[in-house]
Amino acid sequence: MLRVGGTSVYFDYISADLPQAKIVINYHGKDYLIPYIPSTSFKGVLRSTVEVSKRKMGNPPADFETRVKKFLAELKGRSLKFFNDYLKDEIELLVSSGLLDKKYLDDKYYNESNLAELLKAYFDVTGWNFSESCYVISELDRCENTALIEDEDRKKFREAWNKLTNRENFCRTCMLYGASGLRASVRFTNFYPIDPFPVRIDRLTHVSIDRRTWAASPRKLYNEEIITIGTKFLGFALLLKDEYLNRFIEDLKLLSEKAEKMEVTLGARGSVGYGVFSLKFGDFTIELSEESILGKLKLNFKNKKLDTNINEKLSMLKVFYPSYLLSTIEVVEEGVK
Ligand SMILES: [Zn+2]
Repeated sequence: MLRVGGTSVYFDYISADLPQAKIVINYHGKDYLIPYIPSTSFKGVLRSTVEVSKRKMGNPPADFETRVKKFLAELKGRSLKFFNDYLKDEIELLVSSGLLDKKYLDDKYYNESNLAELLKAYFDVTGWNFSESCYVISELDRCENTALIEDEDRKKFREAWNKLTNRENFCRTCMLYGASGLRASVRFTNFYPIDPFPVRIDRLTHVSIDRRTWAASPRKLYNEEIITIGTKFLGFALLLKDEYLNRFIEDLKLLSEKAEKMEVTLGARGSVGYGVFSLKFGDFTIELSEESILGKLKLNFKNKKLDTNINEKLSMLKVFYPSYLLSTIEVVEEGVK
């Protein structure tokens, strides 16, 4: 029953905009509206970071042209049309984002003699390490459970595509984070602010600049809610398959490094410097301040199998997380009188 490995993931926000999601929590007899980072937002950022980075690490396979030939030989009629339509959508997207030359929109590329060149251009931009990672939001290059595809021609396309991209149904990323027809091997809780608690929300008023006069335009003030810099959020990850532990830790490490370099942000308006974060995961220690939900405490987080031993001092956290997850936290008695 408790073959589940718990991994604590913890954020130390340097600066953040306010996550849209909020819940009401009763704390010391009062109701508070608490902003939090939904599990899905975190998972989305982690996954897309992994998808892009893993994929970019590869080089073109030596037998690529032979593989494309084999791939095309397996498709005809409707299955070929599925492929051409999906590919066209992808190419259009890349051309409109300025990542691919406009010439690839020409119909002449969508036939046998020029397809290898077009696919090569596609993978040059999106990355050659396709067996490690598909693109889950694209129709062309996402993994799906072929056993569940009802349309025979679409199934034929997908099977041929899997061969071309060296995937046995699912890439490494989908095996961890799930795909259409495949359950994720890892689950996340939402991330709640625990220090300070209740979290302080600042309201910033911005001024719009009139582009014609370059003057501030008083009727164009707008408000933005932001969380105080340094707010600490806590969330948990549940790994359902032990064999993926190293991969998962590797992914968190990647996200944490990208976050440190501010290449990844969470939430809206990352382009203007919001949503910068730092991430701790696995085994680590943190010290909570007097203003935290638990008061001044030093905590050890363990990447470990779950049990039912929960320190009494953590009981306030049960409003946010299932109590078995709290067994991964060890209370180091400090600053407690
Ligand atoms: Zn995949």
